Amino acid sequence: MIRISIPNIDQEDIDSIIETVKTGFLVQGKKVQEFESIMSEYIGVKHAIAVTNCTAALHLSLLALGAEKNDIVFVPTYSWLSTANVVELIGARPIFIDIDEESFNMNPEILEKKIKSLSKSEKNKVKAILPVHVFGNPNNILEISKIAKKNNIKMVEDAACALGAKVDNKMAGSIGDLSCFSFHPRKAITTGEGGIIATNNQKYANVLKALRNHGLNPESPKPDFILAGYNCRLTEFQAAFGISQMKKFNTILKLRNEKANYYNKLFSSTNIITPNPNPNLQHAFQTYTIVLPKKINRDKVMQELKKENIEVNFGTYNMPSTKFFKKKYGYNPKDYPVTHDLSSRIIALPLHDFLKNEEQDFISQKVLKQIK
Ligand SMILES: *Cc1c(COP(=O)(O)O)cnc(C)c1O
Repeated sequence: MIRISIPNIDQEDIDSIIETVKTGFLVQGKKVQEFESIMSEYIGVKHAIAVTNCTAALHLSLLALGAEKNDIVFVPTYSWLSTANVVELIGARPIFIDIDEESFNMNPEILEKKIKSLSKSEKNKVKAILPVHVFGNPNNILEISKIAKKNNIKMVEDAACALGAKVDNKMAGSIGDLSCFSFHPRKAITTGEGGIIATNNQKYANVLKALRNHGLNPESPKPDFILAGYNCRLTEFQAAFGISQMKKFNTILKLRNEKANYYNKLFSSTNIITPNPNPNLQHAFQTYTIVLPKKINRDKVMQELKKENIEVNFGTYNMPSTKFFKKKYGYNPKDYPVTHDLSSRIIALPLHDFLKNEEQDFISQKVLKQIK
């Protein structure tokens, strides 16, 4: 089976986890601090706050912005469910914005129109814009950031898949008021479960540190609890794993881009649409996707590829069309035409550090055979 994804774990990672466990210091200590400073330096922000996973990172970020019941948060239609779930979890309402056809990211023009169409009382309820770097593509983030600033709305980047992505030389995760990263095994580097919140804002950083640790004031020398917090602490051995993974990250990012470019070449001059290389942008390629021609039955192609022992999936989710959101807010395909169309045409192909050119040749042949 050619796996869709394999985490890159070597002996150094394993040794660093074991050594850390042996010390007996297991939760949020020196290793977590070291991991945080490596991440803040890499992303280029003042503060990085480690938490249990990216879903917690997103949840706590909205709380740090003061988002609460009946508020409004703009989210894209096409993402992993966390992006919209965290809005629901605080009792706020997600307003779904359709995506742009090339990058699958939130479409800035549709966002701007939607903001303009809100009533005054609705506008007062808007707490944040939560754009996603889908599959590691940072496209549109600068435009969305401009719209956020112009309308005086905070922006939280869901950069779960975008570690290392850049646009106009700015790092994904350094643009929003707060930005969230994931270290789930399906991402480019992993700590098992794990997440980071990046911010330049000292006030948010302090609130987040309290929120992740039972409300404990991070600045007070004597224990003092300033809010009702959660327990979202990362363990020391996960942080040690992350520190070790980061040593390889530049190589990993380069490998993923090389393999993505090789796929692009294999599919060039076919009627398959590949990720569009934009010279001002560095894609992180957490996932490599293709878009099939309109009349092809995507699910059948996926079945045929699986029969050839090629592990594939359908990318990510059309969130407003899932059972929960559909039932709560209704779903009309006409409201999200681009997502409705693309979410039935996308296939995610295997992409990992160990994938060989010959395997990519084989995969592309099998895909092309299906669409002839
Ligand atoms: C993976 C992912 C998340 C969730 O990350 P976890 O660390 O698994 O909680 C959120 N948003 C997006 C876009 C993701 O891809």
